[in-house]
Amino acid sequence: MAKCDGGYFCYGCGEYVENITVSELYLRYVMREVAYEKLLETPDGHIRCNENLAQYIVDDRFEPVHVDEPKLAKANLDPAFVRAEEERVTRAWRHLQALPQSGIPMREYPLDEDGVWRGASGEQESDETSSAEEPSAFEC
Ligand SMILES: [Zn+2]
Repeated sequence: MAKCDGGYFCYGCGEYVENITVSELYLRYVMREVAYEKLLETPDGHIRCNENLAQYIVDDRFEPVHVDEPKLAKANLDPAFVRAEEERVTRAWRHLQALPQSGIPMREYPLDEDGVWRGASGEQESDETSSAEEPSAFEC
């Protein structure tokens, strides 16, 4: 798949996904819900366009997202679950906001299972993929 050949338009609203800080795909990558190898073949969208996910981001810099569907709205869900999701998703979102300026290689973006970023200092498998093959569509 050509790097700049479409594929980075939001599946929700159809607008271009400007960079990784607003990308639902990369937010889920940071949370280890999307594998590195799947980044190029997974549909991307704005974080805000995935209301069910975006509602769990609680940060002054992020305008709260309201979910209309009663079964999915966090106001109607188990408070313990909501608190855990807010912590998990907000932590990943904050991490994501800092990544473009960080100089961290994309392969080291994801948080650990416990939500802590250890990156280069952790016991990562060796990087056998050359940097030329990095899915770097946002640097086009
Ligand atoms: Zn969108």
